[in-house]
Amino acid sequence: MASLPGNPGHETPAQEGFVQPSSYLRPRGQSQPMPHVELESAIERDQRIGLQRIRDFLKVRTSYDVLPLSFRLIIFDTSLLVKKSLTILIQNGIVSAPLWDSNTSSFAGLLTTSDYLNLIQYYWQNPEQVTRIDQFRLNSLREVEKAIGVQPLETVSIHPQRPLYEACRRMLESRARRMPLVDIDDETKRAMVVSVVTQYRILKFVAVNVSETQLLRKPLKQLKLGTYKNLETAKMESSVFDVIHKLVNHSISSVPILNSDGVVTNVFEAVDVITLIKGGVYDDLNLNVGEALQKRSEDFPGIYTCSIDDRLDTIFDTIRKSRVHRLVVVDEDNRLIGILTLSDILEYILLEGEGDDDKPD
Ligand code: AMP
Repeated sequence: MASLPGNPGHETPAQEGFVQPSSYLRPRGQSQPMPHVELESAIERDQRIGLQRIRDFLKVRTSYDVLPLSFRLIIFDTSLLVKKSLTILIQNGIVSAPLWDSNTSSFAGLLTTSDYLNLIQYYWQNPEQVTRIDQFRLNSLREVEKAIGVQPLETVSIHPQRPLYEACRRMLESRARRMPLVDIDDETKRAMVVSVVTQYRILKFVAVNVSETQLLRKPLKQLKLGTYKNLETAKMESSVFDVIHKLVNHSISSVPILNSDGVVTNVFEAVDVITLIKGGVYDDLNLNVGEALQKRSEDFPGIYTCSIDDRLDTIFDTIRKSRVHRLVVVDEDNRLIGILTLSDILEYILLEGEGDDDKPD
C-alpha cells in the first residue's frame, strides 16, 4: 500500500466526504456479517451457475454444431511416405489428419504431432538408420511406437451427433487433445470420418455462445487451476532433442523457455517440431531452441500470459478473440509461476464439483 510523505508506513487517512466504491458494500454496526464473506459467496454462487450453464449447453449441442458450415478434410492413406505427410501438413497449415487404410477400406486412427515426436525419439536412438527412416510410411509408425516402448495412442472417436458433453468426457478420459468424428456410411456400412473436433474448437464454441462464462469470476489463485509444481522448462541454449524428450516423457504439449532469471522469453510447442523435420530432413533437430524458434512460420499466434489473479471470464474472452492453446502464468516481472492449458480448462468446466469417481486418473 502506498504511504504519504511524513506519514511513513501508515495508511492514507480517509478523507471527509470521499467515498470509495467499496464503502457502499460495508454494513453498519459490528453485528453484521463480514462483508468479504458475503461478497465471496456471491462469487462462489455465480461460479457454480456459470459452470452449470456451460455443462447444460454442452449437453444439448453436438459435435456437428461445432463444425463450420464449410470445411475441408485432409485424410492420409496409411501407405503415404512420412516425409510426404510432413510436406502436406505444412502446405495446408494443419497439424493432424485422419488415416485411411485402403487395403481394408477402413478408418485407421488419427495422425498427430505425438506420432512425429515418437519418430524423432526413434531417430535419436537409431541415428544410423536415417536412410531407412527416410522410407518409412505412415503405417510404419505403429512399429516405431513399439520399438521405442511407448504405449500406442488409443484411437478414440465419437459419432458427430452425440452430445458435445460426451465428446469432451471421452477426450478427457483418453487425454486426447483432438478426436475424429466418425459416422457410418449408409450404403457401405463402413466407418467414415466426417471431421476432427479439438479442445480449442470446443472451448471457442463455448466462449462465443455461452454468455454465462462471464460469471466465472474466481481467480486462478483460488481455483488452483493449472500446473504450478514440477514445471518442465528449458533455455534458449537447450538442445531441441532435450525439449522433445520432455514433451514425450511428460505427455505435455509445450515447454516454457526461461532466461537465467526465470523470466519467460518464449514457449516451445509440440507443433514446432513439424517445421523442423519438414521434407523428412532431420538436421534441424541438432539446433538449439533459440535457433529452432527462429524457423517458426510468420502466422505464429504468439505467446499468451496471464497472472494468478486472472479469472476464467477474461480467459474465455481471450479464447473468443484469439487462437490460444495455453497461457503461461507469470508474476509482475514475467517470471514463470505456472501453466494453464486448454486441457486444464476443459477438465475444470466439465468435472469441477463432480464426484472423484467421475474424474480421469
Ligand atoms: P497439455 O497437454 O499441454 O494440455 O498439458 C497436460 C497437463 O500438463 C496440464 O495439466 C498442464 O497444466 C500440464 N503441463 C503442460 N505443460 C507443462 C509443463 N511444461 N510442465 C509441467 N506441466 C505441464
